Amino acid sequence: MQFRTRAIHVGQEADPSNGAVVPPIHLASTFVLPAANGNAQYDYARTGSPTRHAFEAVMASLDGGARGLAFASGMAATHCVTMLLKPGDHLVTGTDIYGGSWRLFNNVLAERGISITAVDTTDLAAVEDAMCAETRMLWIEPTGNPLLSVTDVAGCAALAQKAGALLVADNTLATPVLCRPLEMGADIVMHSATKYIGGHSDLLGGLLVARAPEVGEQLHWMQNATGAVMGPLESFLCCRGVKTLELRVHAQSATAFRLASWLYQQPLVKQVHYPGLETDPGHTVAANQYHGGFGAMVSFEIDSDVQGAQRFVESTRLFQLAVSLGAVESLIEVPAVMSHGAYAPEARRAVGITDGLIRLSVGLEEAGDLENDLAQAMNTVSSL
Ligand code: PLP
Repeated sequence: MQFRTRAIHVGQEADPSNGAVVPPIHLASTFVLPAANGNAQYDYARTGSPTRHAFEAVMASLDGGARGLAFASGMAATHCVTMLLKPGDHLVTGTDIYGGSWRLFNNVLAERGISITAVDTTDLAAVEDAMCAETRMLWIEPTGNPLLSVTDVAGCAALAQKAGALLVADNTLATPVLCRPLEMGADIVMHSATKYIGGHSDLLGGLLVARAPEVGEQLHWMQNATGAVMGPLESFLCCRGVKTLELRVHAQSATAFRLASWLYQQPLVKQVHYPGLETDPGHTVAANQYHGGFGAMVSFEIDSDVQGAQRFVESTRLFQLAVSLGAVESLIEVPAVMSHGAYAPEARRAVGITDGLIRLSVGLEEAGDLENDLAQAMNTVSSL
């Protein structure tokens, strides 16, 4: 079955007790056991529950992995993966990554005796140089955040395998619609389901999909031991969201491409970061590893200080001023003071997050309306 068909049917079998086409939300925290020997499909909802399993099953299918595991948030999923590391281990991470992952790696993990090297993962030679005998994990975002750099997943998979390290891909921005890292050799894929998978800014969730059953089992053990599981309502909403994921991501990516091309021509705009533009440094790798679009995030730098960027994002009417991304509503933000405020100012500048950088999450509204909104914000800032 093709992606869109699986998104609608896997894990969504009609309820055998009454024929309901949409499986119900199972709220039970505990389950009656057939015997006292511990052999039951479900016993306690932290270990597993039917609605969560439905979502885990469809995502394992869409990402092409052996096992999916759903968490209370993207950060809970990320934290669970990093619990596979032990004191003395070394993690190599990209520099163009979500600010919350950066905070977890550089504060929480560093305090547990895990050493971290941050490197530009678009440069495979630099990734190889950063790896050492203790490296156990390479963490990448195929489409980076907020600069939308593109990392070669297959190239990183080969390096991780050579070093005996796990390759983990935070695929939140690209989604399994555009990019499936497990098919390119990654060991684990992570998503903030809060974003495109949920798709409607009404839930928090995270997901891991493991390529190998043994890695899936290790992660499940850790998830059950630490407990940050996704609840039944969020699991239900994610199952619903995923049914329209492909349609939304394709439509939103097409609008993002149009807006990126328009922004590229604006005199106030110094630089546009969008892998779909032929001028973008990530375009060649993106054209090779993404299918059906280049994503629905666009970032751009205006010829201004942080106050100018703040004025711009306060001037839009359709683009709402908010962190997060991936929903049907378009959002706008200034990473330096919002999503990536967790970076120390020097670290932020060193990785290229300038004060004038603006990030757009392009939603599902009519493209012309969004373009008009950016144009009026551009006029407001230019006339000041
Ligand atoms: N990874 C990326 C790329 C994100 O954008 C986010 C949230 O913005 C996360 C991880 C963390 O996810 P959550 O907010 O669901 O914990």
